[in-house]
Amino acid sequence: VDPARHARRLAEAAARAASTGAAAVVIAPSPDLAYLTGYDPPPLERPTLLVVRPDRAPALVVPMLERPLAEAAPAATELEVVSWRDGDDPYAVVADLLPRGEVLLGDRIWGVHVLGLQRAAPDRRWGSAATVIGALRARKDAAELDALRHAAHAADAALEELLSTPLVGRREIDVAADVAALLVAHGHASAAFTIVASGPNAASPHHEPGPRVLSAGDALVLDIGGVLDGYRSDMTRTVALGAPSGRLREVHAVVLAAQEAARAAVRPGIPIEDVDRAARAVIEHAGYGERFFHRTGHGIGLEVHEPPYAAAGDRTTLEPGMTFSVEPGIYLEGELGVRIEDIVAVTADGVESLNRSPRELLVCE
Ligand code: ZN
Ligand code: ZN
Ligand code: ZN
Repeated sequence: VDPARHARRLAEAAARAASTGAAAVVIAPSPDLAYLTGYDPPPLERPTLLVVRPDRAPALVVPMLERPLAEAAPAATELEVVSWRDGDDPYAVVADLLPRGEVLLGDRIWGVHVLGLQRAAPDRRWGSAATVIGALRARKDAAELDALRHAAHAADAALEELLSTPLVGRREIDVAADVAALLVAHGHASAAFTIVASGPNAASPHHEPGPRVLSAGDALVLDIGGVLDGYRSDMTRTVALGAPSGRLREVHAVVLAAQEAARAAVRPGIPIEDVDRAARAVIEHAGYGERFFHRTGHGIGLEVHEPPYAAAGDRTTLEPGMTFSVEPGIYLEGELGVRIEDIVAVTADGVESLNRSPRELLVCE
């Protein structure tokens, strides 16, 4: 890993804040903090707050008892570590570091800390750092793309192994436990979610696996993901258990065509909402528009859902290095559901699918 990556990210965050006219950015423990500094403590009632300012060194305000941890952070040499002791007013310590003007707050700062800062610095203006940091995180560097590729391939391998085992007659929760173990066996540090949705349960996009027994004639939606080197996998395939019904064949073909159209639309320079439009046009044309009731995709990186979003209204212009899911679906309540999801990366002239699992309707036993 490039040792200068955090210095570069901190400098770019400061530059982007300056370009919006902001005086400072304040980030609490969160994926944003991990991205900028490599420091990833849990959020707690004792505030830990990173203060990034144009033309000044970034400061990390930490409780005294966590100073040794902060000083061991990958970006510690780039940071002025400022500690406060129990009994001090930590918000006053942060307020002293804030220039006059607008202060942009990260998305994950607890309300209690926002209120503390606003009390300690009543003459500042407050805004959101979401666009500044989100835009920075959205463009992955080569090492991040490699991590996302590894995670995607590990999920592909887990799925392939799962589908080589008998499924009919087993309960969703038992198959979900196997998925979690397979994600880890194929290289993930941990599994994050294991959606196993069979038969009518497949019509619920975020179904929680339960005791239902997988049966011949079911559609089976498998939406699986985990964490590998800090980066996320997230993929979905829908398979037929036993001979598929005509309806399952038809719906699967529509979703596959929509997913292919959306992936084919991906290239630098277009707004990401056009990717959503490409998928939706296919599904609406087939008469299932009302049954595709979620966005086509979400950015992915340190978090499984992060900006930008392949959804109507997100005008983010695609740039090389952006990574997001393409996951249209059709859900027929009480009957079946179909979703197909890949993680894609925007390349210099088009798109790379990080997942390689076959997308056609597989028949499993
Ligand atoms: Zn989802
Ligand atoms: Zn998913
Ligand atoms: Zn997803």
